[in-house]
Amino acid sequence: MKIRFLGTCGGRFAVIKQMRASGGFIVEIGEKIIHIDPGPGAIVRARQFGFNIEKVDILAISHSHPDHYTDAEIVIEAMTAGVKRKRGVLIGNKYIIEHDDEHRQLVSPYHLRTLEKYFVLRPGDKINIGKLRIEATKTMHEEKHGIGFVIDDGKERFGYTGDTKYFDGLVDYFSNCNVLVMNVMKPKNEFLEGHMNTHDAAKLISKTKPGIAIIQHFGMSMLFSNPEKEARWIESETKVRTIAARDNMSLDTKKETGGKSLERWL
Ligand SMILES: [Zn+2]
Repeated sequence: MKIRFLGTCGGRFAVIKQMRASGGFIVEIGEKIIHIDPGPGAIVRARQFGFNIEKVDILAISHSHPDHYTDAEIVIEAMTAGVKRKRGVLIGNKYIIEHDDEHRQLVSPYHLRTLEKYFVLRPGDKINIGKLRIEATKTMHEEKHGIGFVIDDGKERFGYTGDTKYFDGLVDYFSNCNVLVMNVMKPKNEFLEGHMNTHDAAKLISKTKPGIAIIQHFGMSMLFSNPEKEARWIESETKVRTIAARDNMSLDTKKETGGKSLERWL
């Protein structure tokens, strides 16, 4: 499994000011390339960081907040050779693909038609794509239909919490992951409803014991309190290798040595 970050900040103000990039991240697993949560600037950061976004096979979007979905349609255009080829899969929650009285549909029917397939997922839904088994996980967040993902290729298991506050149900979804990516907006002693802080992340990690934990989606106060320091604190509390993601950071689990540390390059 390989993971690469096209952005690591989240929340309104860090994104508005582009304190860091906000293009989501790429997971390569089971011979598929998956782009998760293509927020503002995904297409620009892909170009800047030398990632060929046209190779993306699956676009997965957790919920309808702009820091997670804004570049979805242009990424679909890249995946489909400019809407000229029927190719690729979109996985999204209700408001990415459908609408109701409160919310508009965020990916247009024109873009949906160019995809090979698309799926609207609710928490607990499971689908198979090629070798991959993908499960939508529950979130407790302002966006009531938000989801996270567990992706398993039979050899490795990847987890992504999406935006959520901590709740005990998360443990059932995310146990036994080789890599667990968590959105941790706030540092240790700060709280924001519907989000995790460093304390919450440590609690989830100590109960799920992933092979490696990655924190990302940092808000302003997290960036000011130094995410690396927060990651070191989590690691000392949980004894699980914990990394604070950086823009354009890559990880390759095949480069893991002794089952513990992962080589990384910035
Ligand atoms: Zn959100």
